[in-house]
Amino acid sequence: MPQALAPTLHFFQGTHGLGVQVLLRVGTSGLLFDFGTPYEPTRGPFNAFVRPRAGREAEDLLRVGWAPPIAGLYAGNPVLPDGALHDLENLAVFTSHHDLDHSALVPHLSPGVPLYATPETIRSYRAMGWRHDAYQPVEAGGSFRVGDMAFTVVEVDHGPLGAAGFLARVGEATIAYTGDWRWHGAHPERIDAFIEVCRDADVDVLLFEANRAGGHYDPPPGEDLSQEGWCERVDATLDRADGWLVYGFDPRDHAALRAAQDRFEAAGRRLVVHADTAELLARYDALAAEVATPAALQPRPVLSLHDPGVRDAVLRDPSRFVIEARMEVFPELQHLFEEVEHGGARRGARPFLHAGGPFGSFEASWATFQGWLERLSLDRVPLSVNGHAPEADVHRLVRAVAPRLAIPVHSPDPARAVPEGVARFLPQRGDVIRLEPGGVITHL
Ligand SMILES: [Zn+2]
Repeated sequence: MPQALAPTLHFFQGTHGLGVQVLLRVGTSGLLFDFGTPYEPTRGPFNAFVRPRAGREAEDLLRVGWAPPIAGLYAGNPVLPDGALHDLENLAVFTSHHDLDHSALVPHLSPGVPLYATPETIRSYRAMGWRHDAYQPVEAGGSFRVGDMAFTVVEVDHGPLGAAGFLARVGEATIAYTGDWRWHGAHPERIDAFIEVCRDADVDVLLFEANRAGGHYDPPPGEDLSQEGWCERVDATLDRADGWLVYGFDPRDHAALRAAQDRFEAAGRRLVVHADTAELLARYDALAAEVATPAALQPRPVLSLHDPGVRDAVLRDPSRFVIEARMEVFPELQHLFEEVEHGGARRGARPFLHAGGPFGSFEASWATFQGWLERLSLDRVPLSVNGHAPEADVHRLVRAVAPRLAIPVHSPDPARAVPEGVARFLPQRGDVIRLEPGGVITHL
């Protein structure tokens, strides 16, 4: 293939850090995937304490190197740093799922730039109030084109609704991207199918997520649940809870939420959520017609603590309910507990099914979280089925796909992400490579 038409890959964040920003381009056509920002909660320039200026977010993120410098990509045409790409005439974005390290820049996307994602992911953006005029929903198995590049969306299992990767055919090259994925969740068959698609296409380059390579983000022992372990733990906790039971969860993981609700209701308890969660779930529900998810996999109706009748019923008999718990509502829970117990002696710890954040000591809020668990006498029962594959599964996937070149794009420990004997490229921030036939690359 003539060199001018050979595809190139730009790695705006390299492999390190957890924000995926890669541009695949041929000539003046480019697909940027994903569209998140780096996740560095305790060290980065922006985190829960320092935010970009409202309305000028893209400009501030570009300034610190947290947003890809591409002309025409952002609403409001912010000033671009030196070295920005100005020659892309046909630009589109793909996002694999709704986690912020893959999607935080979506609200700042320029009107008219197509954003490809699964219908579930786009529903999730819209439920969050992220407006865009060029959302392009593509069902798993569906295809889209950007210039001469052809993409097929391939669903994976991760946690948030609609998680997917893709297979790309660009000239003679085939490239696959996993997005975030796990093999130990409710849908291992999706990963098996992803591998099969890659093998059928004889993939040259595999770009893959390996957050748990090196064990840096492994959960503590006993907290890494399989799907069966998850069910057993919910049931055992329901069996022993005789009064309060609280539950922290990700309101975007509808399959896990529904499974938990089914078990709660079988045990005679209804889920009660706080007003903001009730509103978010109502917005998802209002958009349910846009997606093909069967009703049996959608959340059951929830009760809102904002409803005075519900609140009274909880205060009369907490054992008929499961109350949503997360850091932001701990003061409200403290108040509820005190209202029922009137300062009387507490009857032991209250079980807390914990499937939401914070996820470990690598989060800035972890010590504050621990302090509140103690203050509220919450007995934390870890309940998340981790969204990411452990290192051994990452190696198993890479070997099964058998690409000519393996490129980890989302890993704290890229050298550990690629199994022995597999050709690799470990991109640094700002690296650009050209893909030659046969999985050979030239560093530009
Ligand atoms: Zn991620």
